[in-house]
Amino acid sequence: MVVKPRVRSFFCITSHPVGCAENVRQQIEYVKSRGSVEGGPKRVLVIGSSTGYGLSSRIAAAFGCGADTIGVFFERPSGKGRTASPGWYNAAALDQAARDAGLVSKSLNGDAFSNELKEQTIQEIKDTIGQVDQVIYSLASPRRTDPETGETWKASLKPIGESFENKNLDTDKKVVDIVSIDPASEEDILHTTKVMGGEDWERWMNALSGAGVLAEGVQTLAYSYIGPEVTWPIYTNGTIGRAKADLDRAARTITESLSSLGGRALVSVNKAVVTQASSAIPVVPLYISILFKIMKAAGNHEGCIEQMDRLYRDFLSEDDIPTDKDGRIRLDDWEMLPNIQQEVAGHWVRINTDTLSEYADFDGYQADFLRLFGFGIEGVDYEEDVEVEIPMPR
Ligand code: NAD
Repeated sequence: MVVKPRVRSFFCITSHPVGCAENVRQQIEYVKSRGSVEGGPKRVLVIGSSTGYGLSSRIAAAFGCGADTIGVFFERPSGKGRTASPGWYNAAALDQAARDAGLVSKSLNGDAFSNELKEQTIQEIKDTIGQVDQVIYSLASPRRTDPETGETWKASLKPIGESFENKNLDTDKKVVDIVSIDPASEEDILHTTKVMGGEDWERWMNALSGAGVLAEGVQTLAYSYIGPEVTWPIYTNGTIGRAKADLDRAARTITESLSSLGGRALVSVNKAVVTQASSAIPVVPLYISILFKIMKAAGNHEGCIEQMDRLYRDFLSEDDIPTDKDGRIRLDDWEMLPNIQQEVAGHWVRINTDTLSEYADFDGYQADFLRLFGFGIEGVDYEEDVEVEIPMPR
């Protein structure tokens, strides 16, 4: 089948199997070109490992540190003439490449919030690598069904206290418009925290610990975001920010519970990048487009793989992991440099539909967005008939 992109707002309903595999290959080559990482983990579980930061974490762990990895994700296989979701193709390509390199690489597809998938993962660890030295928690989901009560919580992206109005990018129409969002209710805050907060991370760590599959000195990380003041009402001070604050709470609780193993839980604050999750947040695509223009000009722009490579190389392989005063890893250090943020603020005031190309890297944003689905990747012939039914290597 010849596969073309079919974009619907902040989603693309098709994905290209060869393009996704090539994207994974290029990320692997990037990590390999940087040389091996000394002192990194050797057995890693990544929860949310098929796209975005989780995918790049798994690639950096496998090809930088030489780690055996198990990946957990929720993706749609192909069927009935439809392509699979991109994470499916990414995971299949990564498993194959890691196995070709002599590493253990196993994938489990299902609902990570459920007890069943936690049990399956534990069994897979026992059957293959015995224990894990590191657990990366990189889920981004709009909903979560509580395995105890059966209740489904739904996350929302809303300001807290008062309504929010600001510039926004309509990526379909290439128009800078104004978005206005009503404030969250207490229920919205609770629901978002239940989905994107630390509760499920704690449940994973308790289950893994109870099953005896965490190694001495185990490390676990969850990813967060802070960003500039212009996005605070909708992000840091909004419902998602409350959920992220709950990750900080969970990190402290998990660290306490890992004391007998000498383990530690950390939150890593990462840079804003184009992923399926970030493209759905109001205001953020406009901010990212401006940020990319400025960071590319400054020569310090990074995507997911550059960020995750730096995480393992400069932070996680250190005996004394560098953190901020609140104990968080700050991979957003270059994004938050005062000179970068001053320029962002200036561009933000001046940007409108007519000046979009002058003040923002909209083409770069769109290219990154299409890459998420395997399109626009150098070396891929998009006119070619391709096999869309790709099995997950067993
Ligand atoms: P993403 O959408 O690319 O990846 C989400 C992952 O979660 C995928 O592997 C998906 O399969 C998996 N997933 C979703 N629901 C699942 C379920 N029920 N069961 C199993 N797997 C499920 O998102 P991302 O942007 O890489 O986000 C990962 C983390 O990084 C999030 O915590 C996010 O807040 C954080 N973060 C993102 C950015 C950014 O700019 N994208 C910046 C800083 C931090």
